[in-house]
Amino acid sequence: MRAIIKSNQGVAVREVDAPRVRETDVLVRVKLAGLCRTDVFVAEGRIPAKSDVVLGHEFSGIVEAAGKNAPGFARGDRVTAMPVLPCGRCALCSAGAQDKCQATTMLGIDHDGAFGELVAVPVSAVHKIPDAMSFRLAAYSEPVAAALSVMKAGLKAGQRGVIYGNNRFSHLINRILKAYSLDGVTVFDPAAGIPLREGAYDFAIETLATDKAMHELMLAVVPGGKIVLKSRKHEPVGISLALAVKKEITLTAVNYGDFGEAIRLMAEGLIQVDDLLGPEHPLEEFAAVFERSKTLETQKVFFNPGA
Ligand SMILES: [Zn+2]
Ligand SMILES: [Zn+2]
Repeated sequence: MRAIIKSNQGVAVREVDAPRVRETDVLVRVKLAGLCRTDVFVAEGRIPAKSDVVLGHEFSGIVEAAGKNAPGFARGDRVTAMPVLPCGRCALCSAGAQDKCQATTMLGIDHDGAFGELVAVPVSAVHKIPDAMSFRLAAYSEPVAAALSVMKAGLKAGQRGVIYGNNRFSHLINRILKAYSLDGVTVFDPAAGIPLREGAYDFAIETLATDKAMHELMLAVVPGGKIVLKSRKHEPVGISLALAVKKEITLTAVNYGDFGEAIRLMAEGLIQVDDLLGPEHPLEEFAAVFERSKTLETQKVFFNPGA
């Protein structure tokens, strides 16, 4: 099959063997796969990955085959998958808290991913999608599940909130909050030159953490307010503990919401995301698409490995 491979020589579209399918895997023919910043970081070598990895982790497709220990799936099923895979062996996994596993691996980094014609995924990560749901929407399930995690932060309808950052992800978060009746939320654009009001918000959600952003958010929340940490900045970020303690601010970090719920939000039209979804490209155009994604942030870009 053809796939976008990251090797020591860089990134290229190559002809490779079809994935090996273990008994507990589902083999999926990829219809669409979204390009994410993580893929770009892996391509650049900023996130270490296995050698000769097929990139890509946000996707939808049709089941080609199911291993004999992969119950519930059959050829022809329309599916998507959660790309972050719990280890299945640690104490947390054994206790049924797979969502808290700290030894996770990920498609497109530790396992061959979805920028190829076929991808093999452990059955526990695969989710069926409704017949009426488009492959475009289904391929966007992972970002929606990541945004949906803010609902784990204990935010309540009627509270005033602010989302820091004017980007695709902040608008997605805002739409999810609205779907849960949290409609008094402002998306704050730090580039707009208007200062954030102090003491005006019950909660704040950061989507791009810097020392400056965190300081502004500490000032922006009410005493006893909450700051939700959502971005995945690798470098440390400085915060004023004196201010946090004086105001008794709660800092709460969230990772993923429920994947099935993320699918349902889109499938049932509880959130509209069509305007956040952009063009579809054949694999061969990867170089230009990767390059453009470093600057253009407004819409999700997809690969269609069958094109
Ligand atoms: Zn992603
Ligand atoms: Zn585990």
